[in-house]
Amino acid sequence: MLYSIVSMPNTVIYDDHILVKGSYDIILHDKMMREGLVPVDGNVTDTSVFFKTCPFVRSGSGCTLPPRYRSYVCNFFLCREILENPEYKDKLEPYVRERNNYVRFLEWENNQLFTAMNEEGLSFRKNLDGAIEFLKNLEINQYDFPLLEPVVIPDNHSMGA
Ligand code: SF4
Repeated sequence: MLYSIVSMPNTVIYDDHILVKGSYDIILHDKMMREGLVPVDGNVTDTSVFFKTCPFVRSGSGCTLPPRYRSYVCNFFLCREILENPEYKDKLEPYVRERNNYVRFLEWENNQLFTAMNEEGLSFRKNLDGAIEFLKNLEINQYDFPLLEPVVIPDNHSMGA
């Protein structure tokens, strides 16, 4: 899977991460903004998101990237409308706290791994195969997720599958 990600168009390999660029239709964005066709309200601070496409999304299938390869932004995204809804705010607070803890853990763990690679003179950019081989043999710490109370948010659609 990792190699299929790396072989995608518009991929840039950095020392410590791999960036796969998506697309942004700036011409359509500008045109629709001029014509007043883009919804602008308090919930949307950056309207360019409506015109950007992630390279991993496929029409009719959704995300094609397995969760373990996605960024934590994708895996733990909570939209502002839900977070600011007084009915769910308190119930979601433990999730937000746990997400923040997990992100801190990830940053710490990634830093450790990058330092270990550096000490071997390795980086993804310099030697991708060597770096992958090196990382494969390292023990990775796992985050101990607590069991949280489920939060059920009805979508108000009366028709189900
Ligand atoms: S979940 Fe993330 S990786 Fe998957 S399609 Fe959406 S933005 Fe892209």
